[in-house]
Parts: sequence; C-alpha cells; structure tokens
Amino acid sequence: MALDISYPDLSDHPSFDNHEMVLCAQDSDIDFKVYIALHNTGHGPGRGGCRYWSGYADDMAAQRDVLRLSRGMTFKNTLANLPYGGGKTVIVGTPGTRAPTPEIMRALGHALNALDGRYETGEDVGTCTSDFVIAGEVTEHVRVRAVARAGVQDLPGGPALYTAHGIYVGMKAAVAHKLGQNDMTGVRVAVKGLGNVAYPLCQFLHADGAHLVVTDLDQEKVSRAVAEFGAQAVSPDEIIAQDVDVYSPCALGGDINDESMDSIKAKIIAGAANNQLALRRHAQDLHERGILYAPDYAINAGGVINVVSVGQSHEQVMAQVLNIGTTLEQVFARSDAEDKNTSIVADTIVMERLAEAENVSADLDEAC
Ligand code: NAD
Repeated sequence: MALDISYPDLSDHPSFDNHEMVLCAQDSDIDFKVYIALHNTGHGPGRGGCRYWSGYADDMAAQRDVLRLSRGMTFKNTLANLPYGGGKTVIVGTPGTRAPTPEIMRALGHALNALDGRYETGEDVGTCTSDFVIAGEVTEHVRVRAVARAGVQDLPGGPALYTAHGIYVGMKAAVAHKLGQNDMTGVRVAVKGLGNVAYPLCQFLHADGAHLVVTDLDQEKVSRAVAEFGAQAVSPDEIIAQDVDVYSPCALGGDINDESMDSIKAKIIAGAANNQLALRRHAQDLHERGILYAPDYAINAGGVINVVSVGQSHEQVMAQVLNIGTTLEQVFARSDAEDKNTSIVADTIVMERLAEAENVSADLDEAC
C-alpha cells in the first residue's frame, strides 16, 4: 500500500482546542501510522518533537496525545518569545517495539513534505537524532537536535545545559520575588532527579552558595552529588516533603498532586520536569497555600530555545535563555497584582500574544 494521507476532523475530540489542522498518514505494508497536529502557527511555522509510542490503548489515546502536546508547544514557544507556533508528531508504534524502523522514518519524511514547511520536527520520547538523519533523506523538514556549539558539548549535560541555565535563572527570579534575596547564598533547595538537566543545575546552585538536598533512583549520581556539592541525600519518597525553600522537580511529571500537596513545605517550586502538576487545579491549590510555582513550560524552555536556534552562537542562545528569568518576573508580579495563580497568568500572557498576532495578520490581510 502506498502512503495514504488524510486530514481527519477531530473537532469533536475532548482534547481539541481550535487546532489548525491534523494530518494522518498510514502505510499498512510497513505498519506505519502517524498523527501530526498543528495547533497554532500565528507566530510562525510549527515546531515540536516527534514521539514514537507503542503503548496507546486506541486511536483516541494517540489523538489525545498529539492534540495536547501540540497545544503545549504553542504555549511553550509563545511564552519563550520564539517565532514559532505549536505542533507535534505522534507515531503509533508497532506493539512491542520501542523505536521506529528506517522505513517508518522515511514514510514520516514523506508525510512531513505534505505540510510544505508549515511544520518541522525532531527527536522526542522514543525517537533519536539518527532517526531524523534517516527521515532527512526524503525531507528537509526535520531538525537534528545535536547542535554543536563551542564548549557546550563538552560540559556535563551537553545541550541540556541550556535547560539547566533556564531553570537556574528562573529559580533565582522566584527566590528574589518570594524571599527578597538576589542570590542563592544559604537558600535550601531540594532537587528530585540528578540527570542531564539537574546535575549542572546543582553545580550552579552549589557555586552560588545554596544548600542542596538531593535524590535519584541512581545511587551513583547521588553519591557524586554528595561528594561534589556536599549535598544531603534523601530517598525519592522523602524529597518533596523536605523543609527547604525551593523544591525542584527534575525527574518525571505529576509530582504535585492531591497526595503530595499537604506535605510540601517549600515556598517555591521551580524545576525542569514537564507536567509537574497532576491536574490544572493544583496551580490554584499552590497559590492559596502561598507557594510560588514557576510554570513548568515557562521555566524549562531553555531546551526548546536551543533546539530551534540552529545557526546561532552560544551567546545568542544564552541571551534568550536568560529572558526566562524576565518572563517569570512578569508572571509573578501579575499573579500578585491580580491574585491569580501563576499557571493562569502564564496562559493568559500566551493567549494575549496569540490574539495580538492574529490581529496583526488580519491587519496585513486588509492592507493587501
Ligand atoms: P534525565 O533522564 O537525564 O534525568 C532524569 C533523572 O531522574 C534520572 O537520573 C533518573 O534516574 C531520575 N529519576 C527518575 N525517576 C525518579 C524518581 N522517581 N525519583 C528520583 N529520581 C528519579 O532527564 P533530563 O534530561 O535531566 O530531564 C529531566 C526532566 O526535565 C524530564 O522530565 C524532562 O522531560 C524535562 N525536560 C528536559 C529538558 C532537556 O533539555 N533535557 C527540557 C525540558 C524539560
């Protein structure tokens, strides 16, 4: 069977949110099925990674993922002031597999060509750089994340260093706002996860005089942090309830939930993980408890800033990453002034920017 491309109408799907379009491409001969969703391209062509996942219970679940993730990319790109819209790709994986075949990646490349440059993708969960080298044999619309910049590749974490810098400046903005302190001297930070982002983050915090409490499932990483930063080690179950100033979730999402809420003693939550709140209403719970939450998609944008900044120097990328602190200062100030939780404020800023972009393009249409 040749590649079959369709544009399903998903407007009745519960996760649909005025998406501009959804493409579905299939080739049963090679067990290939993909959904590509473009949420909003008012600020520029869609950008967002490509997920390969064989665990979808049904088609609705794959559609839910692509609709929600593409919307999330609109918000992340817009809040980071990137000239890109939101899009995402979800390949419905063959049961029992964890990675796409070269045939699947080439088929994806052909499907991307159908979008004529309105969207570009790259690695995400279940895909890696080499997959996009293969897709790149048949399409120009892929990005390979390995953006080598002088010095950065040799540092711990490699490109995740940009994400770590973003978390660091965002955390400092939160500390300045909540604790009235302009550096991290003596600030107690509990860090969950010591991976590519959190390890360099701990280095910055330690160099700045913070006291670290850490945990990871990997004991080797924990021992290293104890030796290198004088960190206190606790178990993964205990980390969120530590008596600290800042809790920094840098492992997986969903840490802030009904069960953990009452145990949180930190005054600030600022970390790298995506989807830190199990439910949207937890942002309001944190707000009412006086806990300052740095919205995850705002503070962890250093990664996406790096990925889309191909051709820019390290200094240019860093300048954009440092803006994460400024954006968060605006979010925190507006949250106080309007007595609204920080998630709502960040979302509102995005909606305002999107509305502005729509007005500008409407004006241009009229002028033409
Ligand atoms: P990573 O895989 O390098 O590190 C994650 C670490 O968390 C690992 O050391 C792992 O052992 C540990 N971990 C997992 N579950 C744990 C648990 N229950 N308790 C304690 N430790 C646990 O990942 P990363 O690249 O450092 O990313 C961290 C988080 O930030 C992820 O949620 C990722 O989606 C998000 N994020 C990363 C980037 C980036 O540039 N890498 C960008 C944006 C968001």
